[in-house]
Amino acid sequence: MLVLRGTVVTPDGVHPGWEVRIEGGRISGVGSASDRAPGRVVDFGDAWVLPGFVDLHIHGIGPHNPKSKEGIAGMAEWEVKFGTTGFLPSLSSATKEEYLRFLEDVRSVQEDPPEKGARVLGAHMEGPFVNPKMKGGMDERFLRLPDPEEYEDYLVPHLKLMTLAPELPGALELVGALVENGTVASVGHSDAGVEDMERAVRAGLSHVCHLFNAFPERREREKGVKQPSLAEICLVTDGLTAELNGDGVHVHPLMIRLAVKAMGVENTVLMTDSMEGTGLPDGVYRMTDGRLYRVRKGDVARLVDSPEVIVGSILTMERGLRNLVELCGFPIHIASRMASLNPARVLGMDGEIGSIEPGKLADIAVLDRDYRVLMTIVNGKVIYRG
Ligand SMILES: [Zn+2]
Repeated sequence: MLVLRGTVVTPDGVHPGWEVRIEGGRISGVGSASDRAPGRVVDFGDAWVLPGFVDLHIHGIGPHNPKSKEGIAGMAEWEVKFGTTGFLPSLSSATKEEYLRFLEDVRSVQEDPPEKGARVLGAHMEGPFVNPKMKGGMDERFLRLPDPEEYEDYLVPHLKLMTLAPELPGALELVGALVENGTVASVGHSDAGVEDMERAVRAGLSHVCHLFNAFPERREREKGVKQPSLAEICLVTDGLTAELNGDGVHVHPLMIRLAVKAMGVENTVLMTDSMEGTGLPDGVYRMTDGRLYRVRKGDVARLVDSPEVIVGSILTMERGLRNLVELCGFPIHIASRMASLNPARVLGMDGEIGSIEPGKLADIAVLDRDYRVLMTIVNGKVIYRG
């Protein structure tokens, strides 16, 4: 048995002087530290013992991107340095062949995972069925209308999330097909109006991709009535969860507080949207679609040719957690829910991962009070020490 002592963070609070007992890959007990714990005891003092982070939206990290099997395995190995224990490799702006290869690569890494890596929980396709008007950092050449001939080939069990624009012709059928496949349908890079969203939610759309980013401005008045923006529609629509970039640049911290107030904390998710080059020195890197972008510490990833275009972030989850606490003002157990339990719930995996509770898989991140990762545990095994 492995016993971790420290300030244990559970969904309902922060517990100094507690311990987490781990046996056979699972959490077997959580509670006040006992005098005679059996097994190996690691005492972290006042450091936080948190559920490992779950990142639903990530395009690359370190020198890796998801455009090959090795790249996805490399991402899994890098993720644990930042306390992330489960993630969805995400691919945007690609051809059908590239998406099919991506899905195949995700599956083969799931079947043959690296020994010391985070769990690859499935695949996230960001596009290609999104609105060119709201392309944000995406390459327009690769955006197209939903076509069953194309998307039926994507409907594999490990496709967990697809971001799409529900106002496109054929999008509602796509949402229906995704839901039937067990895939979460997410609105993003979209110019949907009130009725588009009503129809999409009725068809089963349930998630929002990087709320507030690549979102349209408010529409013209209709019949003299001021219209809500798509972000505002998402904020008030029941049955939606939303992911937010926590790097402090993509959205102002106050907007994250707004989302939490309007949607409820249980429906908001921290993610990184990070790119290859994250965690590496400042410099120029190549996007999976070939274009060049620059990363600079404290900033975001920007196109070299048009620096006003943000193509992603260089955020890591432990920094996102810190920002939720220090910039947004959330208590750490609330920030932790947004970084672990809520994304696990989006995927329907919260019965197994996402919180420190007896019976769950032992996926754990230990952070010191400066949010530095001291230890990452996946499936009860220590796979990273800071
Ligand atoms: Zn993205």
